[in-house]
Formats: sequence, structure tokens, C-alpha cells
Amino acid sequence: MLSAYIHLPFCTHKCPFCDFAAFAGLSRLEDKYVDVLIDEINFKVKNIKPSLHTVSFGGGTPSLTSFDNLNKIMGVLHTKFNFTSDMEISLEATPHSLTREKLSQLKQLGINRLSIGVQSFNDDELKAINRDHTSLQAVEAIDLASQSGFTNINIDLMYGLPTQDLKSFKRSFDKLMNLSMQYDAIRHFSLYGLTLEGN
Ligand code: SF4
Repeated sequence: MLSAYIHLPFCTHKCPFCDFAAFAGLSRLEDKYVDVLIDEINFKVKNIKPSLHTVSFGGGTPSLTSFDNLNKIMGVLHTKFNFTSDMEISLEATPHSLTREKLSQLKQLGINRLSIGVQSFNDDELKAINRDHTSLQAVEAIDLASQSGFTNINIDLMYGLPTQDLKSFKRSFDKLMNLSMQYDAIRHFSLYGLTLEGN
């Protein structure tokens, strides 16, 4: 069984703590990038159609990618691979990119798992790491995703943030636990420690 990871490196802004291959202000290159990505898939997968068990769109902020480009990528994956019946197709998203329209497009494309980068439910901590969404937008995104029929949502939270202490982390964590009781769709969460690298 194979899994595919598709990297989409475009973001609305570059978070100062992020050392992923992710870039702000380059969305004009999205069409070209996707064309090269498709060439790469065509080049790498030549003959028989192998079975694909999971597809994971990471980044960057894949939820900013246009419908047409995601559709092109899904198209080439369908041509090159057999999709298994219980296939998981996951996409990373920032809370404020998940509009009703975007969620409906993602459903249409067959995306069945969302991973939402909430990081904290405390606005001061979000500001301290220069995230461009708020706690309220995170809750709204979870609500909209659930209303839009997504039944498998992961939430990312971070610890070790500037201005954060154990109590404020616990408040974020408790908020997540309460939301997971309210929304069955929250099936998983990931906790990441902020790691500072030299320079
Ligand atoms: S949105 Fe995510 S991938 Fe983009 S710069 Fe911020 S942390 Fe990095």
C-alpha cells in the first residue's frame, strides 16, 4: 500500500517560528508549481496503477490552493493510482481559509480529513507567534467544517509559546476537550512544542 504526500508551500504570511518549506507572497507561482508537480507525478509513476491508501496535502497552507489546481492534482492521482475504498485524503488548513465555499469545494474533491492549525485558543499567544487568525476564527472553522459534513478533523495545538504558561496552555487544552465533546468530527489532536533553532 502506498501513501502520497503532496507539498503545497504557499502561505498568506510566513510565521516567524516556521522552518518548513513555506513561502508568503509567492501565490502567483501556484499554477506553475502545480504544473511541475503534475509533471513529477507523471514522471515518477510510469506503468501499472499501484494502490494508494492515503493522500496527504501538507505545506504551506494547502487550503489556500485554488479549486482548479487541487482538482488537477486529484485528476492526475486518479489517473496514476488505484484509490482504495477506505482511502483517507487529508488536507492541512488554517482556520481563516476555511470558508463555506472552500469547504464545499474540498468535499467535492474527495478530501475526507482536515487538519486545522489552531495552535492556541488564546489570542495573546497567537499574536505572540504572529499567527494571522484568532481563537474565534478557529472555533468558527471547526463549526463550519462540521456543518459541511466533515467527520474527521485533527486539531494542532502548540506548547512552549511566548507568553504561555501551564495555566494558559491548560485553558487551550480544556477548550479543545470541550469542543471535541461538542463536535464528534474532532477525532484526533496533535500537540507540538515550539522548537527554537540557532539563527
Ligand atoms: S501557516 Fe504553517 S506552514 Fe505557513 S508559515 Fe505559518 S506555520 Fe509555516
